[in-house]
Amino acid sequence: MDINQRIAEITDRIKQAAQAVNRSADSVTLVAVSKVQPEDRIEAALAAGLRVFGENRVQEAQGRWADRRKAHPDLILHLIGPLQSNKAEDAIALFDVIETIDRPKLVQTLAKLAQAGHKLPKLLVQVNTGEEEQKAGVAPHDLPALLDLCAEHQLAIEGLMCIPPEDEEPAMHFALLAKLAKRHGLSVLSMGMSGDYETAIKFGATHVRVGSALFGERVRPA
Ligand SMILES: *Cc1c(COP(=O)(O)O)cnc(C)c1O
Repeated sequence: MDINQRIAEITDRIKQAAQAVNRSADSVTLVAVSKVQPEDRIEAALAAGLRVFGENRVQEAQGRWADRRKAHPDLILHLIGPLQSNKAEDAIALFDVIETIDRPKLVQTLAKLAQAGHKLPKLLVQVNTGEEEQKAGVAPHDLPALLDLCAEHQLAIEGLMCIPPEDEEPAMHFALLAKLAKRHGLSVLSMGMSGDYETAIKFGATHVRVGSALFGERVRPA
């Protein structure tokens, strides 16, 4: 299958999954995860009309997208990997959405940048729903305090993001994220990847982050 066929297939599956739970197809945004993919696949995705992309590293994304932004002013770039405070200024200059707010220090850094006159992108909080040691994200029980801190600093948070543990049923993690978002009045839910985006849509995903199913296997680990 070439990339056009893959896009058509995934778009169709998104639509079916949405309609199965009485949601409209356009209530779900496909975020094409382009990290570490070769340039020809990125060009093919752009030629096929995709405009929403996800990257997990600030520097790699700058190299890949800074110039392409000029050719495609309608691009929407999501940061889906962990953000270090010292990269925050670069990140807010490039990305339209940062999905990985997960700790007080980052909230404070972004608040300072906003106070200094920088325009902030849309922000989501990453929740470590599986409470995995090695994984980024705020633990579910620490979410209320982090959201309070964001409110104190006048950072608008639009939603939540999660990456379920690899060895667990993703559905329970999607259900938990949806419940937390609802409890806090947040409308954006970024969840679901190549193997489970249809399940995520069933549980209310507004954004699914699909990499390998769209572009093919990554040529090296991310
Ligand atoms: C790599 C990555 C994805 C895409 O994973 P696939 O399984 O290739 O679809 C989605 N979300 C995040 C946060 C990622 O790092």
